[in-house]
Amino acid sequence: MLVNQLTNRTALPDLFTAVIVLRIFKEAGKTYGPGWFIKKRDLHRTSWINTIPNGAHTKLNKLNKNGKKVCLHCGMECDKNSIEHIIAESKNTWPDEKLYCGAACGPKCNSSKYNYDYLNWWILRKMRNIREANEGVINIYVRGKYRLLKEQNRLDEPIPQSLDIAITQVMSEAKENGWGDYFNKVFEWNR
Ligand SMILES: [Zn+2]
Repeated sequence: MLVNQLTNRTALPDLFTAVIVLRIFKEAGKTYGPGWFIKKRDLHRTSWINTIPNGAHTKLNKLNKNGKKVCLHCGMECDKNSIEHIIAESKNTWPDEKLYCGAACGPKCNSSKYNYDYLNWWILRKMRNIREANEGVINIYVRGKYRLLKEQNRLDEPIPQSLDIAITQVMSEAKENGWGDYFNKVFEWNR
C-alpha cells in the first residue's frame, strides 16, 4: 500500500479542523455540506494556524466552580499551580510562552509529560486516543507546533508517527459514523 506522505503544514491545522468537525457532527448530526467544511479547512490552514492562542489560553486557564485551576490533561483540580508548557521548546524562548501553558497535576500529568512533545506523550507513551484529549490543548498545540516548525523551517517535512496515528484515530471514528469518504475528500488523507 502506498503511504500518503502528509506534511506538517497541512496535517497540523487539519487535525484540529477534523477534531472539531467530528465533535460538531456528533452533537448536531452531519448538517453542514462540503462547502462549509472546505471553507473551514482553508481558513484554518491559511490564517488561523498562524494566530496566537490568546482566547484558547484564557479558556483553558479558567478557574472551576470551586475557584481552582484544573489539570489541562486530566481535568483534576490542581492545588499547586504547576505550570505545564504544551510546547516544551517555548520555555524561556518565546516572549509569550505563557500563552502556550496551563495548569497540570503533579506526577500523573506534569512530571509524566516532562519535556516530551505533547502528541508523542499522549499517543505513544500514554497510548491514548486523540479524541480523549482536551480540545483546548489540541487547539494550542497545533498552533504552537506549527510556529515552532516554521521557525525551524520544517513545515514541509513528513508528519511524525504520533500525528499519523492521531489522524487515523479521528478517521476511524469518522468512518464508524459513515463520514469516512467525506473526511477523506476534504483532507485528502486516503485512509
Ligand atoms: Zn492531570
